[in-house]
Amino acid sequence: MRYVYDFDSTLFSTERLWQAERAMIISAGFDPEVVDETGDQAARLGYSPRKHMEMLGMDADVIVDIIERFEVLLRDDAPSFVFADVIPFINARKDHSHSVLTIGDEGHQREKLLTSGIDKLIPNITIARPEETKASHLLRMLEQEQKLIFIDDNPTHLITAHEAKLPIDLVRIKRKGEYYAIEPHELDDVAWRVITSLSEIET
Ligand SMILES: [Mg+2]
Repeated sequence: MRYVYDFDSTLFSTERLWQAERAMIISAGFDPEVVDETGDQAARLGYSPRKHMEMLGMDADVIVDIIERFEVLLRDDAPSFVFADVIPFINARKDHSHSVLTIGDEGHQREKLLTSGIDKLIPNITIARPEETKASHLLRMLEQEQKLIFIDDNPTHLITAHEAKLPIDLVRIKRKGEYYAIEPHELDDVAWRVITSLSEIET
């Protein structure tokens, strides 16, 4: 059995990180609404704080300053952004395989994986490019593994696996306070089951 986890808002509280970064950008004199809008645009390209701030047209020296503060924040606090159930869940399943399947900006994803310690816990990591689907990577994993469970908070990625009719157990995780946890989806409990903690997975 292989457990395949999304990273952001599945293993790691990206919402807490985003709120800290958002506050840094707003304090540099930007309107919160504009910050959120450009944040969404940057997310579609594979999010990184640099891309976001360049999109806002921020001065280069301000970008450098915020990136430095952001790096300090990650170095000091990223391990505390890992959800409390993650380490016990994986440690209790050492005889199974575990992978991270994330998507986005390679450098930014790597930085979060490294500073959070997730790369040590789960060394098997795939970072899909924003224009790819996670289903294409899951299909490749199926060539080596008979049984896969895929856990993601974002219905968009679960849908690609569902529509590809992959023989995979799909699980949506709704972490309290995370961005995608708010909206219900019509395929909840139809195409995938919904949990709020990894501890609800019994296998
Ligand atoms: Mg996610």
